[in-house]
This record gives sequence, structure tokens and C-alpha cells, in this order.
Amino acid sequence: MTFDHLDLAPPLLKALNEQGYDKPTPVQEQAIPLILQGRDMLAGAQTGTGKTAGFALPLLQRLHEQPRPNKPHPIRALILIPTRELAMQVYESFRTYGRHLLLFSEVVFGGVSINNQITRLTLGADILVATPGRLLDLLYQKKVDLSQVQFLVLDEADRMLDMGFIRDIQKIIKTLPKQRQNLLFSATYSKEIRILAAELLNDPVEVAIARKNVAADTVSQRVYPIKRENKRELISWLIGDGNWQQVLIFVRTKHGADRLSRQLIKDGIRCAALHGNKSQGARTRALEDFKQGKVTALIATDIAARGLDIDQLPHVVNYDLPAVAEDYVHRIGRTGRAGSEGESISLVSPEEAHLLAGIERLLKKQIPRVEDTGYEPVLLKVEKKPKIKSSARQKRTQNSGQRKPKAKPAMSKHNPGNSRGRPARKKTAS
Ligand code: AMP
Repeated sequence: MTFDHLDLAPPLLKALNEQGYDKPTPVQEQAIPLILQGRDMLAGAQTGTGKTAGFALPLLQRLHEQPRPNKPHPIRALILIPTRELAMQVYESFRTYGRHLLLFSEVVFGGVSINNQITRLTLGADILVATPGRLLDLLYQKKVDLSQVQFLVLDEADRMLDMGFIRDIQKIIKTLPKQRQNLLFSATYSKEIRILAAELLNDPVEVAIARKNVAADTVSQRVYPIKRENKRELISWLIGDGNWQQVLIFVRTKHGADRLSRQLIKDGIRCAALHGNKSQGARTRALEDFKQGKVTALIATDIAARGLDIDQLPHVVNYDLPAVAEDYVHRIGRTGRAGSEGESISLVSPEEAHLLAGIERLLKKQIPRVEDTGYEPVLLKVEKKPKIKSSARQKRTQNSGQRKPKAKPAMSKHNPGNSRGRPARKKTAS
């Protein structure tokens, strides 16, 4: 199938042609005709599938087909997005695909001056891409009017729920006209997503592109079983030995991102850290420098895990495994995008064995282990929780409803180890 078969307007086809897209991706093939028919939609599409164009193209077309509104253009399509970076990216997609149409897009997100956004909004916009928090601020200040919205998209809805935006989203939805088309995109279908979908969508069609929670097949995945205290040296060695030019490294905490960044800089690796404590200016700069190849390693918390589209990113490293297994899929989705090959490496210490087991359960396969990491071999074994004996369980129920604290797993998550000892690699880099 080509884009011509999707009944898209010539100005959109022209923009796609200029982008070098010759045929629709599966999510586009399925979603575009249904959105053009005006259906509400629950779409399960993993990152990198082309889902942004999957909703942007038909929305642009529907807005274009309507009579031109009076100036200033009222907001007719609202796209809610979890993170600032993703909001910027989706806004740029609307501008790119709609460049031959007389439609205007705007973007608002937190961390930057609200006044500039207010000024720009007074000029009018047909499409508004927004993060929920900033949009709510603008609503409270009566600086944005959503009374003409006909199309609502919740992109990365599962992420928005994870980030605690549900209340904000509900407040925003209350300000919208009842009569509108709703599209909900989510990489995973949790119970909460189903509840939100039931509240929001009206007789929706369901489009599922990704197999549920499965990582892109174009990503080769490997696990390096390694002691926590050797991780820093190993990552440094992998970057140097492999002559990696661009690697996105995920860590669990903001503090951890800053610390690893400082350490790698000492090793002579150009890097930048990207996390929620950084100012928006620093976040934008870090991402731009990384995209342009000015820094080799971008060290990020999960804020960067979703939606970011970095062309042909060859390597993703999980320096720490994510606490939530689904985030692994999103993290490694940063590589192997739109059909290109990518590599994902996870440095897994024995303390993280249970997280790895959770990820492998989700993927329904074992990720290959690297046997010779160059370091002392470590075993990634999941310690079982000690079973509560049935007599103890009986006692607990007899105990007039007073619950005893749960038995702790044998292997506590807490690990005070902060060893700086760096055992020499067994193998020397040749
Ligand atoms: P997304 O999943 O929306 O973040 O898109 C992932 C990447 O695929 C982006 O770089 C898009 O520019 C690219 N893309 C989207 N649709 C197509 C297409 N039909 N052909 C080629 N590349 C595409």
C-alpha cells in the first residue's frame, strides 16, 4: 500500500514525499482511514512504529477539510503529551507534515517562560500540543480557550498515568466540548488505561500494532552479568573498545545520572546528563548536542525513555535496570527504530536479578548473557521470598485482624555497598 491509497490530501502527500516516506507503516495503514472516518480509537502502538504520523496526518486532513475559521484561529485539536521533549517532537511532526497547509500549530510545556507561550497563543493555533501541567496553568490563568476543541489525542497515555497526570487530564477534559473525536495511544494496556479508555472513548475501534509489551525485533539485546562496582569501568571500556559514537545510557536516579556523567567525563568520554532536575534549557541543549554528535553518551533517567526519536541511534545501555519491566521495552525502543538495526546492552548486577527476571517474563524470552565480561563471573539468581509457614499464617489470621509486617525477601533491595574498589579487568583491551 502507498499513501495514495489512504485518501490523503495532495499537500500532505507532498510533505510525505519530501520526508522520503514511500509507504505507510502498519499503524498508519490501520489508523489513518479509521480516524478519517471520525472514529474514536484506542491504539496500542509501540514507540518507533510511526504512530505520530498515524494520528497527525488524519487530524491535519480533517482540520484542512473544515471551513477556515475566523482569525485568530481557535484551537480545534488538542494533543496531550507526557514530557516536554516528546511534546516538542510531536509539535515538529505536525509542522513538518502540515507545512503545505494553512494550519497553525503551537506547543506549550513547563520549565520555560509561560509569558512567551501566552503571547504566541494570542495569535491563534489550530493545533495545540501540550503537557498537562502547563496547559492547566494556562487554563487557570484563562490564557487558553479550549471551547472549540473537536479532536483530542492522549499520546503515551500509559506514561502520563505513570507520571501521575490523571487528575490534570481529567480537569482538562472537563473544559472540552462533549462532542469531539478522541484518540488514545498507549504502548501498554494496563487496567488503568482500560478504565481511562472506557471513560473517554465513545464506541472506539481498537488498533493494536505491537504485540503486547514486546520489544522491537530489530534490537539485538544482551545482558552483561556484572558486579555493581564494576559497571562504570565496563561501560567506559565498551564505549572505547567499540568506538561507539552515540550511546544512550539509562540510569535509575537523577543523582546517578550526574555521577556517572562526571565519571565518564573523567575517562575522556564526552557526555551529558538528561533528567528532570535539569532546567529546560539544559535538557534541550543536552538532547541537541547528542543528536548532532557533539556528545557521545547521553545519560538519562526514564524521562527520556519514551517517544524520543533520535535518528538511527545505534546503542542503548541499561546501566541500571528499570524498576518497572515495561520501561525496559520503552528504553530499548530508542534504538532499532523504523527498521534500522540497534543494540541494547544491560549491565545487570546480582541485586537486579529479580528485575531481569520480571523483564524476561514480560518479553517471554531469555535475553542472551555475555559469558566473558572480562570481570569475575557473577550469578544472576533470583532469591525466592522465604515462604511463610502455614502455622504462622494461621496465627496471623487469628490475630484479631492485626497484620504483622510482611516477611522481607531474603535479598533486600537495600544495598549499602558503595565500593570504589575497581578490580582490574581480567582481560586487557586489545
Ligand atoms: P514515531 O513512532 O511516531 O516516533 O516515529 C518513528 C520514526 O519513524 C520517526 O523518525 C518518523 O519520522 C519515522 N516515520 C514515520 N512514518 C514513516 C513512514 N511511513 N516511512 C518512513 N519513516 C517513517
